[in-house]
Amino acid sequence: MSEKRYDLYIGGEWVKANRYMTVRLPYDGSVVGEVPSANRSEMERAIAAASRARRDAARMPAHKRSAILYKACQLMEGRKEDWGRAVSIESGKPIREGRIEAARAVQTLLFSAEEAKRIEGEILPLDAHPNGEGRFGFTLRPPRGVIAAITPFNFPLNLACHKVGPALASGNTVVLKPASVTPITAYMLAELFSEAGLPPGFLNVISGGGGEIGDALVSHPDVHMVTFTGSVEVGKRIHDKAGIKMVTLELGSNSAAIVDTEADLDLALERCRAGGYAHSGQVCISLQRLYAQNEVARDFTDRFVEAVRSLRIGHPLEDQTEVSSLIREADAQRVESWIQEAVAGGATLAVGGRRCRATTVEPAVLLGTKPDMRVVRDEIFGPVVAVDDYQTLDQAIEKVNDSRYGLQAGVFTRNLSKALHAAQRLEVGGVMINDVPTFRVDQMPYGGVKESGLGREGPKYAVQEMTDIRMVVIRA
Ligand code: NAP
Repeated sequence: MSEKRYDLYIGGEWVKANRYMTVRLPYDGSVVGEVPSANRSEMERAIAAASRARRDAARMPAHKRSAILYKACQLMEGRKEDWGRAVSIESGKPIREGRIEAARAVQTLLFSAEEAKRIEGEILPLDAHPNGEGRFGFTLRPPRGVIAAITPFNFPLNLACHKVGPALASGNTVVLKPASVTPITAYMLAELFSEAGLPPGFLNVISGGGGEIGDALVSHPDVHMVTFTGSVEVGKRIHDKAGIKMVTLELGSNSAAIVDTEADLDLALERCRAGGYAHSGQVCISLQRLYAQNEVARDFTDRFVEAVRSLRIGHPLEDQTEVSSLIREADAQRVESWIQEAVAGGATLAVGGRRCRATTVEPAVLLGTKPDMRVVRDEIFGPVVAVDDYQTLDQAIEKVNDSRYGLQAGVFTRNLSKALHAAQRLEVGGVMINDVPTFRVDQMPYGGVKESGLGREGPKYAVQEMTDIRMVVIRA
């Protein structure tokens, strides 16, 4: 495995850092690279570079912003296999998922390039107000300025593209701080955009402990917006520290799916097997709670347990691997302990749940869980699905809504009335009919309600968050 050392990327230059940290493959701990572990003054340097470039970024015409994004997209497309491999190596996700993430990142950049060309204001009929007679009004969408983009470990490439793409599309500059365990693809993005012709200072990449340099970034007066994806705990802290600036938060969930009597059970089975265990359950919309109607619950659960038993565990770079490792040993230990706690409280472990390597937990299914168990109530972020049954659809909806989170939910049913009934009542940011909550394509408005967050991503929607509304009134 090739090891590469990256420096800080500030103002279009690679800058030596005071300290560096090692990046490891989560599956076996082997060293895969070295990146800066920045301090506060290095962070301030990155913010200053973004700040100096912000007026140039705001003045760059839309067709040029679009062309740079399009070029970056083409360059990534041409080396998709390398990007997929890089994602797998730093995050530990199976290579088949690394490839999917790289293909999605290409699409995210493409949608961003397209969005750069259609940032529109609106014309307002000012004479609708008696005092507005004789005036003409319209809105502009100027960029916010400097955007701090903070990303998590689980989709290190595509989630960075979801922030950098729309930010550049709308004329902002960016300071990107990736997760400390998965920083390599963020530096690769800096290389990519430099090759695509992005001027110096428009994108700056700085790795370092969030606990150490996070406050300096989010509370800085020259940073105009924070776009954060990560845990609820860190999201709350950022919201507190940021002060008066725009903050969007894409946080966690304990996502659920409902399997109705009128579901296509084969489809539900296939999708739940994928949705509960992709990246070992380390997906913000991973299927964690599965509610099956009483009449089909027994048969469906038996088949689901067997389907989960057939998942292939292995090294992330082997093509056939479906489940590999969690990001850290401590996370694997936590997942195992939550499972044990549920079993001690009366739940049945139908399959898996053991740690077979330091960072790998066998895909697990729990039956007979209670709503207050951590495997149900909190975000487990591991390869665990808790299956429960229900009598009426409204009871199932109530169970799904009985959560402090609300990111996405799935409903398997062929009955359109039931599907619409559920879509109107589920308290989430997205309802997937005949699919798991885990479904996402990158142009969708994506985000949550309750503790799952604030604001929406998806290039078109992120551009709205990343631009201001400026009202122009002309007295004719
Ligand atoms: P995390 O621990 O919250 O870390 C996320 C990012 O925040 C990392 O870059 C981290 O840096 C940084 N950070 C930590 N402390 C900070 C501070 N005080 N100020 C500023 N930044 C700070 O989350 P994670 O474990 O990487 O990711 C998993 C979580 O992300 C899950 O809860 C998952 O549901 C959520 N997620 C949500 C979405 C969504 O779209 N809704 C998508 C993916 C993931 P360090 O790595 O240096 O600590």
